[in-house]
Amino acid sequence: MHCPFCNADDTKVIDSRLVAEGGQVRRRRECLSCKERFTTYELAELLMPRVIKSSGSREPFDEEKLRAGLQRALEKRPVSVEDMEAAISQIKHVLQVMGEREVPSRVIGEAVMDRLREMDQVAYVRFASVYRSFEDISEFRAELDKLESTTAHEG
Ligand SMILES: [Zn+2]
Repeated sequence: MHCPFCNADDTKVIDSRLVAEGGQVRRRRECLSCKERFTTYELAELLMPRVIKSSGSREPFDEEKLRAGLQRALEKRPVSVEDMEAAISQIKHVLQVMGEREVPSRVIGEAVMDRLREMDQVAYVRFASVYRSFEDISEFRAELDKLESTTAHEG
């Protein structure tokens, strides 16, 4: 970090603290040559992986697309916007901590379904039916069967 006053290379950190609920680090630095002090803010950059579509093409992760998909599934369901936004954050977090530079779109679909299954069964089935129809119909049928067998306890 160059000193903003004299442009010297050598500055030392004299204090570090977490700010913005731990999302930022605030550092006080002192220039070793002119002794001026200044503050820097560091923000951890967690990159979203790129998405590998089933066609094999790659595209940037699109949060708006994710939000639109969730909104469609949750339409007229008793789920608050806050809960939906929390789900989006969780899904993004899951993708970030994987540490992969690229993930198949299927992985994102699964992450969304995991969240929806916990939030709202109807929204889950809605999303799964739309999502699966592009993937594999028989797989979706198996998923529905599983859902039915867990709700109807017979024999
Ligand atoms: Zn300086």
